[in-house]
Amino acid sequence: MAEQFTLPPLPYADTALAPVISAQTLGFHYGKHHKTYVDNLNKLVPGTEFEGRTLEEIIHATAGKADKAGFFNNAAQVWNHTFYWHCLKAKGGGAPKGDIAAKIDVAFGGFDNFRKEFLNAALTQFGSGWAWLVAEGGALKIVKTGNAEVPFTKGQTPLLTIDVWEHAYYLDYQNRRADYVNALIGELLDWDFAAENLAKA
Ligand code: MN
Repeated sequence: MAEQFTLPPLPYADTALAPVISAQTLGFHYGKHHKTYVDNLNKLVPGTEFEGRTLEEIIHATAGKADKAGFFNNAAQVWNHTFYWHCLKAKGGGAPKGDIAAKIDVAFGGFDNFRKEFLNAALTQFGSGWAWLVAEGGALKIVKTGNAEVPFTKGQTPLLTIDVWEHAYYLDYQNRRADYVNALIGELLDWDFAAENLAKA
């Protein structure tokens, strides 16, 4: 029988983001961590109420339910990683243009302040988790989530995210989370992807 969930292909080669994110980090992060969440979910779901349900349906149905934490954690981590890969591209980063730039000016008073707040969210997420740029009620916000938590179960539309689990940066940056986050903001964030997400919000 075909597996219910498959590991989506990386949107670029595993060398594409080097030297900001090395091929070694990308290889382990995608090929081991992301794949393991997919494999775990495929082991958990058969024979349960979640057979035939989408990733998003499982995430919504299990968020905040302690007895369903295994389903939530693996489903949300599959979703988060697929989203994260699309938030990055070679020769990305820097300040956006267009509608999203105007909304950043309104929400944060300019790109430099956005950058400071995004970095601060990433650094103050204690332990594992994610920093996010989201849209909520027409405005942009920066939020952080712990472990596998997602913003969209709280009515927030994710526009961009940065994975701040140590596995995302330790091989390249060791304990220097700020260097990793600054490099992503400066060189890799895909603002076209963020704009597509904003248009759907
Ligand atoms: Mn990760």
